[in-house]
Parts: sequence; C-alpha cells; structure tokens
Amino acid sequence: MEQTIPYKIYLEEQEMPKQWYNVRADMKKKPAPILNPQTLKPVTVDELSAIFCTELAKQELDDTTPYFDIPQEIRDFYKMYRPSPLVRAYCLEKKLGTPAHIYYKFEGNNTSGSHKLNSAIAQAYYAKQQGLKGVTTETGAGQWGTALSMACSYFDLDCQVYMVKCSYEQKPFRREVMRTYGASVTPSPSMKTNVGRKINEEFPGTTGSLGCAISEAVEAATSQEGYRYVLGSVLTQVLLHQSIIGLETKAALDKYGVKADMIIGCAGGGSNLGGLISPFAGQMLRGEADYKLIAVEPASCPSLTRGKYAYDFCDTGKVCPLAKMYTLGSGFIPSANHAGGLRYHGMSSVVSELYDQGLIEARSVEQTEVFKAAEQFARIEGILPAPESSHAIKVAIDEALKCKETGEEKNIVFGLTGTGYFDMFAYQRYNDHEMSDYIPTDEELQKSLSTLPVVE
Ligand SMILES: *Cc1c(COP(=O)(O)O)cnc(C)c1O
Repeated sequence: MEQTIPYKIYLEEQEMPKQWYNVRADMKKKPAPILNPQTLKPVTVDELSAIFCTELAKQELDDTTPYFDIPQEIRDFYKMYRPSPLVRAYCLEKKLGTPAHIYYKFEGNNTSGSHKLNSAIAQAYYAKQQGLKGVTTETGAGQWGTALSMACSYFDLDCQVYMVKCSYEQKPFRREVMRTYGASVTPSPSMKTNVGRKINEEFPGTTGSLGCAISEAVEAATSQEGYRYVLGSVLTQVLLHQSIIGLETKAALDKYGVKADMIIGCAGGGSNLGGLISPFAGQMLRGEADYKLIAVEPASCPSLTRGKYAYDFCDTGKVCPLAKMYTLGSGFIPSANHAGGLRYHGMSSVVSELYDQGLIEARSVEQTEVFKAAEQFARIEGILPAPESSHAIKVAIDEALKCKETGEEKNIVFGLTGTGYFDMFAYQRYNDHEMSDYIPTDEELQKSLSTLPVVE
C-alpha cells in the first residue's frame, strides 16, 4: 500500500542516528593506507596525532569498526539544524513532466549554508576533549571555514583559517561571517608561514590554491603549542561524520517504503557524496540491495573521470601523508574561469576505491549547464542552490528527463549540499552571459600528473 509522501519528510529528533557508519568496515578490498611522506610506510596513530587530534587520527585509520557512537554533545548541537529534510521535488517533477520521483536531501539549513557543519562540530568537539587551545584549517570557497568557525565558537576554541587568496578577495562576506564567529582569517599564500613565503617567492602574485592553503594551515598547527590541523573534506574521518546525511536519508525513505533507484551527489573531495551513499554502498557491499550511485564533478577539475588512481600528495607543500586516490596531480590548479568550489586535485580514498571497484559511476559536467540547472531549480523549487550542489541537480534533471522518454517511474535521490547566497559573483557572470567553460587539455593534465610521487 502506497502512503502519500509529504513534500518534506522530517524525521523526529529521536529518530536521528546515534551512530556514524564507517563504510570501510564492509569493504572487502579496503582503501590503500595513507603513507608517511618521508618513510613511505603506512602512518601510525602516533604519527598522525602530531597533526590531527588523537581521536580523529584513530577514526582516520580505523577501517574495521562499522559504527561509531556520536557523542551526546555533538548530537545536542546537531539538533539545532538536524534532522535535515528529505524533500520530494513535486514541483520540479511536474515542471519536467517526468514520471520519475525526485527527492533531495537538503543540507543548507544552517548559517554556514552547507553540510560541512556535520564534520566541523565533530572535529571541534574532539579538539576540545583533548584540551587543545585551537585548530587551524584552510578554506577555499569559504563554506568549511564558516562551518568550523561556528563549531569552534560553540566550544570556545581558537580558530585560524587560511583562505585561498582569490576567494578572500572575491568573497568578503564569507570572511566577515567567519570573523563574526570569532575566527581569524589569513589570505593564502601568506607571509606568516615558511611554506607560504616560499610559494610567494616562487610564484609572485599567485592567487593561491587549496593545496597551498592546506600546507600553510598544517605548518601553523604543528608550530604552535596546543593546536592541531583540521580538514573539511577528503579524509575518511570526514566521510564518517558525513554518513549522518546518508543514514537520515535512508531512514526517511524506509519510513515511507521508498526504495531509491539512483543516488546522485556532487564530488569535490568526496565528503558529502561519501556520506550520502555510505549506508547504501554498505548494503551493496553486503549483497543486500543494488543502487546506481553517481558522482558528479566539474569538467574543469575532473579527478574521477580523467585523473589517475595513484598515490599523490594531498597538499602543494608535500607535508601531509600521501594518499592513494584518483588525482590530477597536486600541482593542478583549475582554470581561473572555474566559478564554483569542487576544485581539489584529488578525491577521498574511500570514494576512489569504491569507484575503482565499480560501485560508483562518475560524470563530469560543464559549468554553464550547471548554472542553467541551478537557475531552473531555484525558479521551481525556491531554494537558491550552491554552485557545487547544482552539479548534482544537473544530473538529477538529466536522469529525470531520461525517465520521461522511457516512461520509467524511477526514484532519484540527490544531495542538495548547500545554498548559494555567497556565490552571487558567479551567478552574476552567468546572468550577464559572461560565463564560459574551460576543459583542461590532455597535455595540461599530463603535465600535472607527471609530478606524481613514485611509490610502488
Ligand atoms: C564543500 C562543498 C562541497 C564539496 O565538498 P565535498 O567534500 O566533495 O562534499 C559541495 N557542496 C557544498 C555546498 C560545499 O560547501
């Protein structure tokens, strides 16, 4: 018997998951271990604890424990903005004239405007537990820095953010939100760190990159007593925290007896996608169910669709552990033309391994069509989406239109990771018809890939 499905499914507070799910536990072939860049041996919790909080270092390296209890303090904070709604996009379905049922999990319902708060609060909690004074991090588009500054102010921790210089200049309001929550924000590359000074010397006038801001933040953490470094994506601990997205999505679908056919997420470093698909991928790995899982990335930064599966540096300064991942090479910097986030050169090792095993498929889309989908979605469903999230919207719409042709009533679920209020320069370029697409040539990719470290 089919129940009427509401426009928004909200779980009750007491239905919110009390544990995170670690998909690695169900993987027969695990993601390759991260390596110490000096010894090329798998890093130990001890080594990692010099950079990360100890509890987080343990989570990072644990590929056997399937469930981790979410501490009560984190669950209390989650309640301020969770459970997040699973929306049935009735208006979009009607407009498209598709028989498909479209659902989206909306993570933009908090001040930081994205899913990143799910991991920020967890990382701040463990830093506080360890008695630290503060944390350092990098931010690109600014969502992660904003989320972390909110989490740190809640736990009374100092928060030092290295913000990629071009975003620092282009997104003054993001910067001011962070400062309002008490964070200090430094444009990167800066003159505050050795690695920043070196990069400035080598590339005068550079507007920075994520990889370079990471190196600065790591140096700042390791050179100050009582500080550790935290990262908003890519790491497996972050995917673990983000599994709350997938667990809630699955609980909401189960409640109404809906079986998803496909699950779509945008992929930058892979944290929202990994979190959204984790419980579903877990079922696939255990042979309990089957889904089509789709990662969507920008054609201008195509790590899954055109990258190489190899060990690489996670940062430009080569201070972080090496990870085996789909990568474009740590020196890869997307064209200045590229507007949204999703500009990291590599991909989470968990998402990379699932992709390599064929559990996930990947598509790349060009930014003008992404903004067209964003505009269409905003006008029909009301929410102004983040450019990153709009990559998933684009593919969800494509799939719904395919169903229109075939007459199939598929259940399409996608992650709407955030809102786009701070991305109005990009929207302006789109509205003024000044946005274009840039797809890197094979020669360009070859060049950045030629710098991969030789490991095996
Ligand atoms: C950071 C961000 C992303 C991309 O990061 P992932 O780690 O790949 O999830 C996507 N959408 C929004 C709104 C973001 O802020």
